[in-house]
Order: sequence, then structure tokens, then C-alpha cells
Amino acid sequence: MTDTTPPGSDRVVLMNPGPVMTDARVRAALAGPDLCHREPEFSDLLTRVRHKTTLAAGGDARHTSVILTGSGTSAVEAAVSSAVPADGGLLVVDNGHYGERFQHIADAHGIRTHRLELGWGTAVDPSAVAAALAADPGLTHVGLVHHETSSGMLNDAAALTRIAHEHGRELILDAVSSVGAERLSLAEDGVDWLAGSANKCLEGAPGLAFVSASRAAFEGLAAAPRRSYYLDLHRHYTAQEKAVAPAFTPGIPAYYAFEAALDLALAEGREARHARYTALALHLRAGLADLGLDLLLPPAHRAAALTAVRLPRDTAFGELHRALRTRGFVVYGAQEQLAPDWFRLSTMGRMTTEDVDRFLAALAGLLHDDRTGRG
Ligand SMILES: *Cc1c(COP(=O)(O)O)cnc(C)c1O
Repeated sequence: MTDTTPPGSDRVVLMNPGPVMTDARVRAALAGPDLCHREPEFSDLLTRVRHKTTLAAGGDARHTSVILTGSGTSAVEAAVSSAVPADGGLLVVDNGHYGERFQHIADAHGIRTHRLELGWGTAVDPSAVAAALAADPGLTHVGLVHHETSSGMLNDAAALTRIAHEHGRELILDAVSSVGAERLSLAEDGVDWLAGSANKCLEGAPGLAFVSASRAAFEGLAAAPRRSYYLDLHRHYTAQEKAVAPAFTPGIPAYYAFEAALDLALAEGREARHARYTALALHLRAGLADLGLDLLLPPAHRAAALTAVRLPRDTAFGELHRALRTRGFVVYGAQEQLAPDWFRLSTMGRMTTEDVDRFLAALAGLLHDDRTGRG
């Protein structure tokens, strides 16, 4: 697949975990026609985007997707607030910032939780999840982050879905930073609710998020509590599936871009994209190791799209960010407890091996300046 983005050195390389650098065809699509969202052109676009989203999430004829105009968090919040019944509860599997966010979302909606707080960057022990479910039948749902973007850790969505199902519970997966990059399949892994966004590893423009699930699951929400008006998944499902129109005014240009991005993703193929992301991350990590920099996680736990790196000795993140920004690279800080010592490098989006090589050269130059004394 050829990327039509000119690889000029004036390009700013985005190493933040979304929004990502997009293909020129995705950016061009943003300039599509002005449109009324209640006309057949939008109904057709909506139906195509929903279908292609479901395919990108590894769904089959049993599955469908609801598209929301909002960031990734809107999809996670819509799933949690819509799916957990009034007398149910959520087991929050928390090994980072986005696990913690499940807790905050549940709290905001008055949903009962049990929080399995494992510590950032600590792998999830499946037997602890099983034990928590066995101990509390009122926990009807499990909230899990697939790629915990705060540390770069990949949690085992398939294994934890199996455990949830063995206990008769449903799993809500925050796949915002994994769908597109990781091996993930609604049909094969059986994830009950998958929340994703357009602007990370699916390489669309910011502004759209989605929830994918079985049609039966969406239908089943008819009897569920309405904790939210705008984020009520059943409302969106009914509008998009039955009336074939959005419930509210959609971000139409972002739909144009998302369709172009989904076409590219489906043409590339889920396995090939996973391989591309994995190869690029390994290339970056090898270069960082050559520079003597430490990585946060053991290799087996690392996701394909992000690498958490220890800050070079005596370097504050702000200083590193400024120096790299002037050289054409946007690097990303770590959050909360990891912020003082770590930073993050995303390799999502239309990033090339040459981008990574130029980044490593720029970083090597800075480290060398530091070692020899600036001036
Ligand atoms: C980016 C991200 C989100 C959503 O963030 P938004 O700013 O709402 O798009 C949610 N979960 C994970 C794991 C993420 O990486």
C-alpha cells in the first residue's frame, strides 16, 4: 500500500498516541461536500461506515457498530452506562490510567463496582479476575482496557473474555488504542462490547468513536436503564439501525475521513497492519536500546503501537519535548505516577521506518550534546 504523504523533512512526526498522522487520502476526504444528515447520501454513508467498522473490529454478520460523534472516551462511557443493568455491577480491571477511567465513569453514573487495582504496568492475573467474579455474583460486567496506553501494556482480551463468560458475565473492552493494531476479533474473541475510536490505529481523523457488539446485545439494551440521554447506546442503535439516520447531528467530515481510513485498513488487512505496527515498534525499540535507554515493560507485555521509555539522565520531559519539537518530532509525556521518570513514543498512524530513523538520529544528537556539554 502506498502512502501518498510526501516524506518531506518539514513534516511534523506525531509520536503522541493519537490523533495520528493520516494518509493524504484521509485528509483529502475531510473536504467532502456539505451535506444534510437527514438525506439519503448520509444514510448510505452511515451504513457503509458502520459496516466497515464492524469488519475492522473482526465482527461478522452477527455483529454491528454504532458510531458516535465524540472522542474515544464517549464510546467507553456509552458502553458502561448503557450495558450495566440497574441491579448489576462492574468489575474494574485497573492496571493503568485507562483502567482507572472505567472506575471514574462507573462512579459518575452511580454504578456499583469492584476495583481490582493491580498497579500500573502490572500484568493482569486471570485467576484474580476469576476469584473476584466468583466472590460477587452482582458483578455482571468486566471492564478491561486492551492496550493500556499509559504504560504500553497489552492485556489479554481473549483470555479475560473467556473467564468472564465462564462466570456468565459480559466483558466491556476499551479497545480505543488497540483496534486496528492488535490481533482482536469480535467474532473469534467473543468480546461483548468493544469501544474504539477513529483517530488512533484505524488512522482516521479525530471526532468519531464507536461501540461494536452483537445485534442481540444492542437489542437487549431496550430494557436497560437510561443513565444518559446523549450517550444512550440503545437510542443510537435504534436511530442508526432502524431509522438509518443519526440521533443527533454527526461530524460529517470526520465520517468522510473515517470511511477513507477504513477502506485503507481493510485493503491492508488486519494481520498485515498488525505486522506493520509490530515491525515499526521493534525497529524503534532496537534503536532506543542502542542509545542505552531503558524501556518500561518486558517484551512479552508490550503492545504494538506504543513504547514507554525512561527519560535520559537529568533530562526533564519538557526540555526533551522542546528540543525534539524544534527538530520535527512530537513526543508524549507519561501520566501521573510515571510522569517524572518516563515518556511515551507512539508508532501509530502513517509513520514510516525513515521517520523512526530520523527520530533516532535526532535523539542520538541530543544525548550526545548532553554528554559532551552543550554550548
Ligand atoms: C486515547 C484513549 C482513550 C480515549 O481518549 P479520548 O481522549 O477520549 O479520545 C481511551 N482509552 C484508551 C486506552 C486510550 O488510549
